[in-house]
Amino acid sequence: MKKVGIVGWRGMVGSVLLDRMVSENDFDKIEPKFFSTSQAGQVGPKIGGVDYVLEDANSIEKLSELDIIISCQGGDYTKSVHPKLRSANWTGYWIDAASALRMNEESVIILDPVNRNVIDQAITEGRKDFIGGNCTVSLMLMGIGALFKEDLVEWMTSMTYQAASGGGARHMKELLTQMDVIGQKSKELMDGDILDLDAAMSELLSSKEINSECFGAPLALNVIPWIDSEVEAGQTREEWKAYSETNKILGRENNPIPIDGTCVRVGALRSHSQALTIKLKKNVDIKEIESLLKNSSEWVEFVPNTPEATREKLCPRYVSGTLKTVVGRVRKMNLGDDYLNIFTAGDQLLWGAAEPLRRMLNILL
Ligand code: NAP
Repeated sequence: MKKVGIVGWRGMVGSVLLDRMVSENDFDKIEPKFFSTSQAGQVGPKIGGVDYVLEDANSIEKLSELDIIISCQGGDYTKSVHPKLRSANWTGYWIDAASALRMNEESVIILDPVNRNVIDQAITEGRKDFIGGNCTVSLMLMGIGALFKEDLVEWMTSMTYQAASGGGARHMKELLTQMDVIGQKSKELMDGDILDLDAAMSELLSSKEINSECFGAPLALNVIPWIDSEVEAGQTREEWKAYSETNKILGRENNPIPIDGTCVRVGALRSHSQALTIKLKKNVDIKEIESLLKNSSEWVEFVPNTPEATREKLCPRYVSGTLKTVVGRVRKMNLGDDYLNIFTAGDQLLWGAAEPLRRMLNILL
């Protein structure tokens, strides 16, 4: 059995990954080893009745013994450890949730329902680094990949609504703690004047009582239209990934589709949503578009453009913890017959992170 090391297993992505691997009996097929950067020597996860002791995630010697490493630890870890391992002539497979290696020429961005052909070719060519895509990009492609496959997209904008858990475990706790402080304060004023309540909440959001160390600003009762660092011309790295990663996943680096938009952090706890404006290459009947989307994969759930269905299904609440990608609000826009409006949502910890990693492991096995 292949020796598979899992680093970052107790983080947000890692926890969801373990959960999925247990559900799908992946551990029956491998000899797992668990690593930590901060808890080596301590007891790690219990799987199949076995308590695994954690090994040191910075030990190149220990990591070199593995056939496959799955890292959900983060970009800094990847940047520090991956080059050392390769310099030590480690020839195993590296599967990673972090973005650090994504755009390297020798890396493949993995989303097998969309680019299995690219993955298979890379394995045949002997490539060893398989990296999960940006969560928003992967979810967008899981939802509307059929339109790219049919080469219908001339350009696209994506306006995102990204959940707190996109930042990791600490970010989720920060949002919930902010909500708790707000809940306690508002309870005292709930029976009084609405303008007093409103003023008290505004004051609270600007006070030190709201801890916003992780997000850099209060997220509860607020939105933050900035995710990650700045790249060029005022764009954020998260926004840059929509263009660069989508085209890399589709194998269109030499013939890229223009994609841009604004990435926004919102107070959803889990699952990302996005509103898409798509300029089609030609006028395609809306029924044909709907049919393409409905039949694109077993994971797409098409939501009719009605208030009831939209409120019920086209949202983080409905998709969280599932592999469904919901696609709805599909309509032609006033801008012209070849302009399409779509809203989509999916669990960024599943298809946007953990699921492509465990599926890649299974492809390699
Ligand atoms: P995370 O929850 O912050 O976990 C990363 C590591 O932080 C853990 O493995 C753990 O490592 C350490 N840690 C420190 N305090 C912790 C605590 N209180 N609870 C749990 N872990 C704690 O990060 P993540 O969201 O899983 O992201 C990991 C990587 O996946 C990042 O590169 C991220 O960009 C990428 N990614 C994330 C998402 C997402 O939606 N969150 C989606 C796609 C990709 P030790 O055990 O070694 O201390």
